[in-house]
Amino acid sequence: MTRPSAHRRSHLVGLLRAFRDAAAALPDAMVAIDGAHRIRWFNPAAGSIFGLAYPGALNQPLTSVVSIPGLDEWINRGGADVLASVTSPTNESMHLNLHLIPYDEDSALLLARDVSQVLRLEQMRRDFIANVSHELRTPLTVVHGYLDFIEPEQIPEYESIIRELRSQSRRMTQIVEDLLTLSRLDAEVVLPRARVPMEPMINALKRDAEGLSQGRHKVTASRDSDRDLEGSSRDLYSAFSNLVSNAVRYTPIGGTIHINWSSDHRGGRLRVTDTGYGISPQHLPRLTERFYRVSTSRSRETGGTGLGLSIVKHVLQLHDAHLEVESQPGRGSSFTCVFGSERLLAPAKQIEDCRDEPSAG
Ligand code: ADP
Repeated sequence: MTRPSAHRRSHLVGLLRAFRDAAAALPDAMVAIDGAHRIRWFNPAAGSIFGLAYPGALNQPLTSVVSIPGLDEWINRGGADVLASVTSPTNESMHLNLHLIPYDEDSALLLARDVSQVLRLEQMRRDFIANVSHELRTPLTVVHGYLDFIEPEQIPEYESIIRELRSQSRRMTQIVEDLLTLSRLDAEVVLPRARVPMEPMINALKRDAEGLSQGRHKVTASRDSDRDLEGSSRDLYSAFSNLVSNAVRYTPIGGTIHINWSSDHRGGRLRVTDTGYGISPQHLPRLTERFYRVSTSRSRETGGTGLGLSIVKHVLQLHDAHLEVESQPGRGSSFTCVFGSERLLAPAKQIEDCRDEPSAG
């Protein structure tokens, strides 16, 4: 009787040792917690990354020994999403991504991975793009300036070449400007929160569409809401005007472009609808990627940079908003910027009227 049981025990001890060695070799921190968020077990990486000492940390509530802002709320919410780029409590230059994996009835495994290197590379990529764009801006301005100086009609034998040089240098300048805008947006964590009056915004967008269209399309605009938005006027205008410019550029002559602002209890919606070429469903998920174009030639012919919708996506993210696209090839598209109700402001006029009213008491 004792022999198989002793054999079994030593087999189990061997398994446990193998598991412990494997967990010790992991560079990621692992902490097992119970239903009351007390620490049941942790590996050596968790010791150094979170500053946990053995055996003192065992049975302690996790958040009383690991000081990470927001950790408590995140665990209480069930840790469904990744808690990204938090600073290690033992090393300020170490950044961690935290995952919470539930197991058993009420236990969970907290995993922390050091993502400092990934973030550093990401920062280098951003700096590189920003620096290259900056360096290109000055020479391009000079080239553009000289080309504007030359009147193509005065040198008939080079007229078509000069026109082509002008159009290409304009395109390059636009790409550099769009890259600089994206770099700036990439670096922003929060944007200013000011009142963005929507009536002048819609009027400006309509004028832009008419200017770009030069009478080739029917342009209409409507406002079904008197609410304003809260955010950065400059960036929202840049996002909305990208949508308007696309609508004009991807709609054949005679088509219609409609701009609409509406709101309800869920939030606000700025929609640009066109009766243009439309987009096949397989392209829709990739439209906001940098330099993604459905038709490269059509984008180039119309002066596109392939960066417009990336800018729209970034600006909306910074306003806790998102883009919805509906499109049917050959029939047209509708691009909607969807804002939460916390970004809506009562009209300034209404606020002033409330202030003017005598108080009830
Ligand atoms: P681009 O500068 O090339 O227009 P964008 O990022 O603004 O770049 O748009 C990406 C691609 O999405 C475009 O190249 C085009 O193929 C497609 N697209 C954008 N808006 C529309 C639209 N209103 N109708 C049809 N296609 C569109």
